[in-house]
Amino acid sequence: MTQKQTTHSESDSESTTESPLETARRQLRTAASRTDVDDGVIERLKHPTRVVEVSIPLERDDGSVDVFTGYRAQHDDVRGPYKGGLRYHPEVNADECVGLAMWMTWKCAVMDIPFGGGKGGIVVDPKDLSDDEKERLTRRFAEEIRDEVGPSRDIPAPDMGTDAQTMAWFMDAYSMQEGETIPGVVTGKPPVIGGSYGREEAPGRSVAIVAREAIEYYDESLDDVSIAVQGYGSVGANAARLLDEWGADIVAVSDVNGGLYDPDGLQTQDVPSHKEEPEGVMRYDSSNTVSNEELLELDVDVLIPAAIGNVITADNAERIQADIIVEGANGPTTSTADTILHERGKHVIPDILANAGGVTVSYFEWLQDINRRTWSKERVNDELEEAMLDAWADVKAEVDGRDISWRDAAYVVALNRIGEAKEARGLWP
Ligand code: NAD
Repeated sequence: MTQKQTTHSESDSESTTESPLETARRQLRTAASRTDVDDGVIERLKHPTRVVEVSIPLERDDGSVDVFTGYRAQHDDVRGPYKGGLRYHPEVNADECVGLAMWMTWKCAVMDIPFGGGKGGIVVDPKDLSDDEKERLTRRFAEEIRDEVGPSRDIPAPDMGTDAQTMAWFMDAYSMQEGETIPGVVTGKPPVIGGSYGREEAPGRSVAIVAREAIEYYDESLDDVSIAVQGYGSVGANAARLLDEWGADIVAVSDVNGGLYDPDGLQTQDVPSHKEEPEGVMRYDSSNTVSNEELLELDVDVLIPAAIGNVITADNAERIQADIIVEGANGPTTSTADTILHERGKHVIPDILANAGGVTVSYFEWLQDINRRTWSKERVNDELEEAMLDAWADVKAEVDGRDISWRDAAYVVALNRIGEAKEARGLWP
């Protein structure tokens, strides 16, 4: 997907437009006000440990040379090595990397995974690169940030504009320089070189698990609910198909061109996902279509925005009809919309919990790499299920105990864990 998830397509009526860093800091402030975590710890968490900026020279296929800028932001590693994606996108910048690294810190903490938060990328449009150029750029980037990464230091993964092949090149370049094969330096690799089975489906699977738990929590039955899913890619299609398999009616799905709507339920296995046929949703059936804007406002029980960021805004939050919104994408709900939905009694299950299956199975991949042992897909899925149910129970306990939103509860769980770790380790010197 090439869209920038965290750009600010919010309406003019929305008074604040936030960068990912501003959003991450605001969320930290809100969570801090709900916990007893020491002010000094909160102050430390407002700042990344470091942000590395590198120049990456690339010999183009025609023999000319271009120089690209790359970043790696490392936010906090009190609970373990930094973990987070590498993004190839023209709008990558240092602040965005820091904001996204902070989100990774919270996401790993809410899942109780022994990682901290990192994020990085290269300011480049990958569509402008040939495969050979992409490989050379990735290898040189790996070399430029080699001192910062490593299986016990900082572990990159795919993100926008990068994929399993990118991770394979990165791992190979790093291993060549270190003189030994080190698969645990990145996750999201092809299984043949230490990638994990089930990694690709994991974020969608976690969205489905969390949606199922939320439906049950609000005394509904999967058999009786209708669900609309925006974005039919890795996250959206995997979540939709699982929920369909478990008995729910998936009444609408969409891709970048628009959506299909059938109040009796769609055959989700037959509708092509982004991977199976990019932009194939509308080609599958051109009757009963809805726009992406209409899909969000359908009269359904559950809405899963799983495409891009900032799609539920001050403009449409009043018209969202679903009672439960499960965030499959990162940051689909603006802060103003979040407040409106909360006031309207809607339940928003936040991204840092719902789509955390991706980083959770990345953790499983790292364990497999370190132990040189492959887990079956069944084991991966079983362990993911258990991890999601544990995290769900922890967040639910805060929702029940304090009468706060699911988002606030997830941040409280994360911040408490990070705060306790900081207190236990202390500040040196
Ligand atoms: P993907 O590229 O596989 O699929 C994206 C889907 O969204 C496609 O169907 C595309 O056509 C559609 N889409 C693109 N722009 C749209 C728009 N403006 N309106 C409606 N639909 C649009 O991407 P993905 O991996 O499924 O990621 C989706 C979201 O989930 C992103 O926010 C991503 O950051 C987040 N996420 C992904 C993972 C992961 O590992 N894949 C993990 C956590 C979070």
